[in-house]
Amino acid sequence: MRCPFCYAEETRVIDSRLADEGDAVRRRRECLACQERFTTFEHAELRLPQIIKSDGRREPFNEGKLRGGLQRALEKRPVDAGQIDAIVAFVRRSLLGSGEREIPSREIGEWIMDQLRRLDKVAYVRFASVYRSFQDLNAFREEVERLEGENSSPAAGKP
Ligand SMILES: [Zn+2]
Repeated sequence: MRCPFCYAEETRVIDSRLADEGDAVRRRRECLACQERFTTFEHAELRLPQIIKSDGRREPFNEGKLRGGLQRALEKRPVDAGQIDAIVAFVRRSLLGSGEREIPSREIGEWIMDQLRRLDKVAYVRFASVYRSFQDLNAFREEVERLEGENSSPAAGKP
């Protein structure tokens, strides 16, 4: 990184150690041009990005809201709570891992739909119908009913 004194680009690390109980790396650097020394800290970026809603407003990621949406989509489906937890954890991990400051809600919706498509087709369709603003909601409802009819027998006996 650039020297803060003379802005030369070449600096070298002369010492490197853990700081913040291992959550950061503290480095002593020396500028090759002016020989000034300075310290840098390296932290993992673990702030959750802000969510950009379709109307352009920003809001913090709300895990409870996501869980609620998943529970509605998976209502009366043969899917246990652990699988909902796994999707919530997956979304959280993806958000943390993105390193972005802001992420469009649409993109998160796609991640969730990817997960649901593999887990339960009916839940996927339900979620997608709420999440995406579809032109033809009736066609979508018919698809839901068709899928529900198809899958009703193997899930018999489950609440
Ligand atoms: Zn310098």
